[in-house]
Amino acid sequence: MTDCLFCKIIAKEIPADIVYEDEIMLAFKDIKPVAPYHILVIPKQHIATLNDLTAQDSSLIAAMMLKIPHIANEIGVAQSGYRTVINCNSQGGQEVYHLHIHLIAGKQLNWPPC
Ligand code: 5GP
Ligand code: ZN
Repeated sequence: MTDCLFCKIIAKEIPADIVYEDEIMLAFKDIKPVAPYHILVIPKQHIATLNDLTAQDSSLIAAMMLKIPHIANEIGVAQSGYRTVINCNSQGGQEVYHLHIHLIAGKQLNWPPC
């Protein structure tokens, strides 16, 4: 996906503050954080939205979810708490059409969010 912002971050064509990387995923700081800690966890494979996940991606999405508590522990918020969010399509508030999980922490988060 040559015109995808997050694919460009994966390809290191656009800089990002990377906090974790392996062969299947990348985690980096959000450029416009909504809380003291705001990290995006993305698959290296281009998947546009949550709607586009298939059963073949089961191990990928599981690995991403399982990595989040480790990242939370690394940044010191695992015990205090954090929120994970996936926005899907227009009314879900999705702006970048490369699947990503928001990891948000570092302040009291209220519910409902809007
Ligand atoms: P969405 O609204 O699609 O769920 O979230 C997209 C997120 O990507 C937003 O929180 C936005 O701040 C972040 N973002 C957009 N462009 C960039 C960028 O160039 N670099 C980084 N690190 N984050 C970005
Ligand atoms: Zn992409």
